[in-house]
Amino acid sequence: MSHEIRTPMNGVLGMTELLLETGLTSTQRKYAETVQRSGTNLLGIINDVLDFSKIEAGKLELEQVDMDLRRTVEDTIDLLAERAHNKGLELACSMPSGIPNHLRGDPLRLGQILTNLAGNAIKFTEKGSVLLSVSCIDDTPKQVTLRFDVKDTGQGVSLEAQSRIFDEFAQADGSTTRKHGGSGLGLAIGKQLVEMMKGSIHVESVPGEGANFWFTAVFGKQPQPARDDTSLAPVGTLMGVRALIVEASAISRGILHAQVSGWGMSTRIADTPDHALDQLRQAVARGAPYDIAIIDLGLPGTGSLELARTIKADLAISRARMVMLTPVGNHAMIKEARNAGLDACLVKPVRQSALYEALVNVMAGKSMADDRQAKREEVVAQVAGSRGAVLLVEDNLINQAVAIGMLNKLQGYSVVVANHGIEALDACAKQDFDLILMDCHMPEMDGYDATRAIRQREVESSSGKHVPIIALTANAMAQDREECLEAGMDDHMSKPFSRRQMQDMLNRWMPRNRPVGNAGNAGNPGNAGNAGHTGAPGAGGGAHTTQLAETASPGAAQSDEVLDRQVLDQLSDLQSKEDPELLTRVLTMYVLESPKAMAKLKQAVADGDAPEITRNAHSLKSTSANVGATTMSKLCADLQAAGKSANLDAARALFAKAEPEYDRVQTALTAELALLADL
Ligand code: ADP
Repeated sequence: MSHEIRTPMNGVLGMTELLLETGLTSTQRKYAETVQRSGTNLLGIINDVLDFSKIEAGKLELEQVDMDLRRTVEDTIDLLAERAHNKGLELACSMPSGIPNHLRGDPLRLGQILTNLAGNAIKFTEKGSVLLSVSCIDDTPKQVTLRFDVKDTGQGVSLEAQSRIFDEFAQADGSTTRKHGGSGLGLAIGKQLVEMMKGSIHVESVPGEGANFWFTAVFGKQPQPARDDTSLAPVGTLMGVRALIVEASAISRGILHAQVSGWGMSTRIADTPDHALDQLRQAVARGAPYDIAIIDLGLPGTGSLELARTIKADLAISRARMVMLTPVGNHAMIKEARNAGLDACLVKPVRQSALYEALVNVMAGKSMADDRQAKREEVVAQVAGSRGAVLLVEDNLINQAVAIGMLNKLQGYSVVVANHGIEALDACAKQDFDLILMDCHMPEMDGYDATRAIRQREVESSSGKHVPIIALTANAMAQDREECLEAGMDDHMSKPFSRRQMQDMLNRWMPRNRPVGNAGNAGNPGNAGNAGHTGAPGAGGGAHTTQLAETASPGAAQSDEVLDRQVLDQLSDLQSKEDPELLTRVLTMYVLESPKAMAKLKQAVADGDAPEITRNAHSLKSTSANVGATTMSKLCADLQAAGKSANLDAARALFAKAEPEYDRVQTALTAELALLADL
């Protein structure tokens, strides 16, 4: 059934993603977003039910392949980061560097268990943090036993529910389905998978204070690990480098400290900008100045960018290089950071490999100015439409349109469509491609045969060429993947896929996009719902060759409804006269700061705390008005009034409207900032 269900789901989710980036009225947008949310939920349930039926039938088998543990864990965290950020939660990951990394096991299934646990933790936590940590409890020459903890500060699980939530279709509180969705199958599947990995799963919880879901699992060790990674990297490079970590959150501080100490760096910690300045100055006085300051963007008080500017302006301490950690990675933020004198900017939660690379680069004297050059080159490549030629082999017209639309939106690719294997072979005979997206089941000639024929030709031509072929499968099962690899394909992506998954795949395999030495075989990031990434309408089925035209600017369509252009134009006018960065700064502040007020407002509404509703609605009202989010501002004014008169029913109803509107404002502003950064 998997194939029959996934193919139409690809049409529903892919088309909705594309639809959402067209010019819609706010009502149309609301409807389309509901389709997207419901579709994503439905896909999650379908995946669970299919998995569960496979387990029941004894047909589920685990893979035993080489895997990179850190990459599997960090991919999971990446996928959930946006969801946590939108709720104002801190999502962190702790994996000490001594843990064996090159293992053998089933990375997709491990990712599935972690995604379910961390996804639940985010779902059932309204404020605070979610921390995923990995530890090693047994290490022998052939295998390791690892323990994974997912700890949250949410509502927790009652003692009575703890005994049954690992049963199929069980939920602690039936009413949560109405609020959060879900099938009650995730933990039951996780339990089965963990047992297949020779481990066990548990929950510990104090209701009201949070829950800790943890499990153990056994993995084989690779006889000869493929290559080095950051945990094994030559420690000497950063050995003895003095770093000051400036971070307000105790959890992140601890993790960062452990990471950089593992590389031989000597570190101290500061939790406020003032404290950081004191430490930097004292270190100079001691004659042992810091080489690097690692600064979190979310610092209290005067804030992180101000701290960076102060450091740069103070000759005594300005030698310290600066790396910033930010919860959102938009162009405007990066531009702002660059202007404040920072040398590098990393998006949280930070991958250990990214942090390592950034620190090494910064110490070697590379700064964001180099990035700017790279960015310029990237833009030139996009405009020239020269990122590469893609052959899309797909018989289903809707799926064709979805893939074309996504490629179109990613910009810079030219695409040729073939309806089946024979057409694909013809196309390959006429033109060289940089990458092929290959559906598996098609009339005339299927994807496996077509791939074999292409590989055969490559051998015969003895040109040494190997075009990356990515399978588009409607099944997410291990044996399908095996079959694809056996036929000579390089990777696979299961339908339905999001634009982000498509982008990841192109980044991984497109020769021009691939960093040198990237082995690339990371597998599919899984089918976890990946809502919120949008694309533009495709050329539609039937078009045989589509030269990807430049599409309209990304934010243009959707910001108009949500944001009042007049307000933005006024800010823009002011900016040219008074302050060249004003608009960017005001919008960035809103994008970064307002999630906190929004989270507080949500909590106040849930708690029925009228004064707190009034306070937070008031502050959001004026900040929203400043950035032209007029509808949002009006809703907040009404919420403020409801809070003032302690009318909690009205407050709840208004908040239900304000929440989706707020999401739209955030999306529109982010798009706006991306445009500004590109100007
Ligand atoms: P669902 O799809 O309903 O989330 P799961 O099997 O993953 O199914 O979870 C079952 C139930 O366990 C949830 O509905 C919820 O009541 C409870 N639960 C799971 N994780 C948490 C958590 N971190 N905090 C509180 N309750 C949780």
